[in-house]
Amino acid sequence: MRWALIGASTIASEHVIGAIRSTEGGEIVRVVSGSPERGAEYARTHDIPASGTSVEEAVSDASVDAVYISTTNEKHFAQAMAAVEAGRHVLCEKPLAMTVEEAAGMVAAAEKAGVVFATNHHLRCSGSHRKMRALIKEGRIGDVLSVRVFHAVHLPGHLQGWRINSAEAGGGVIPDITVHDADVVRFLLGEDPVSVVAKMAVSGMGQGVEDSAMSVWNMPSGAMVMSHESFTHPFAGSGLEVHGTKGSIFARGVMTQQPVGKITLVTEAGEEDVPFSGHNLYAQGLADFMGAVHGGGRPAADGWDGVKSLAVALAVREAAQSGTSQTVDYGVAP
Ligand code: NDP
Repeated sequence: MRWALIGASTIASEHVIGAIRSTEGGEIVRVVSGSPERGAEYARTHDIPASGTSVEEAVSDASVDAVYISTTNEKHFAQAMAAVEAGRHVLCEKPLAMTVEEAAGMVAAAEKAGVVFATNHHLRCSGSHRKMRALIKEGRIGDVLSVRVFHAVHLPGHLQGWRINSAEAGGGVIPDITVHDADVVRFLLGEDPVSVVAKMAVSGMGQGVEDSAMSVWNMPSGAMVMSHESFTHPFAGSGLEVHGTKGSIFARGVMTQQPVGKITLVTEAGEEDVPFSGHNLYAQGLADFMGAVHGGGRPAADGWDGVKSLAVALAVREAAQSGTSQTVDYGVAP
């Protein structure tokens, strides 16, 4: 599979280039950057044969099978539409777009074109989250009553750019991290939040965008979710808890890009440490994508998963802005 990277980004250099190359036959043939010099330098650094500034040129290159879009968020829509129109499979970064309508438009266009469209929600690719989902499905904790998501981190210095100072580029902790948490909860429980209440704040980093958010979601089953995201917490650690009628799952350190952390299951029988696979999250996502392209399965998170996680995140922001409960509007998502 021959890939074009759209966006000379940090996430590609730190995780996704390696993940693409870890797949059988996975090859990166070109990179698109807004700057010719930056693109050329990026291509040199990462041993990519070609670079350019034109998305159209990249997607019309007949040797390109798939594109990975990891530009800033406001660019995803037009770039994904160009790739889909050219008949390329698409792996797009979250949040898929700035609005639910745009995100749904991208995914519907991909369906119509018959190409695979996936969202790079890496957390559902982790051994820890897949193990927690299996425990819930096996009934080990009974009926789920509630979920607590702790995802307040300290944004590293090299990422303190558009995320903290550009609403136009899709900055703010809600499109950055709440969107992931929405996907995690949907993945674990297999249902979509109905309504949310929320508060958000600027707590030392955000310049014109929120850097912290707390929200509470109602699920169709009656389960409740509380979710906390921030860019400003150096020592909070991350965690995920799922509480049910017959047991509780406590996971620590699992809201991360690395295959790390700890899961403890507590039931009437006592407390047990639960082992899980330590595979690379991004490599798993790429392997699942390849499986979908070759007809053997679906991507870890497909396009509609990306639309729905965006819908939840935008409802959280709307709830925080308005001070009122918001029904999540999934648009045309099935
Ligand atoms: P970056 O800021 O690293 O990259 C975004 C764009 O900024 C690039 O496309 C590039 O533009 C430009 N850029 C990057 N570095 C520089 C630089 N040193 N000087 C000038 N311009 C630069 O963003 P991220 O990689 O952190 O995020 C990109 C996307 O990926 C976002 O949509 C984000 O939400 C998502 N993401 C997803 C993660 C996940 O785990 N799923 C984790 C992190 C991010 P150009 O291409 O024009 O050169």
